[in-house]
Amino acid sequence: MRAALFQRQPLCVECERHGVVTIATQRDHIKPLAEGGADDESNEQALCDDCHEAKSLAEALRARRRGFA
Ligand SMILES: [Zn+2]
Repeated sequence: MRAALFQRQPLCVECERHGVVTIATQRDHIKPLAEGGADDESNEQALCDDCHEAKSLAEALRARRRGFA
């Protein structure tokens, strides 16, 4: 599944949005599993380390506000 994703999306989709070309290294859930996202192809995207870290941090903060973690 991971290899298939990077074949489809070899570049970080978040960086691409800003016109930056970065090789993707992380498989990310667009909608976090903790927020009800599906664990399948429709809910995955390829990110670089930096974008994945920033997104994970934002998700952790949201989770904390909901009372988890
Ligand atoms: Zn990126």
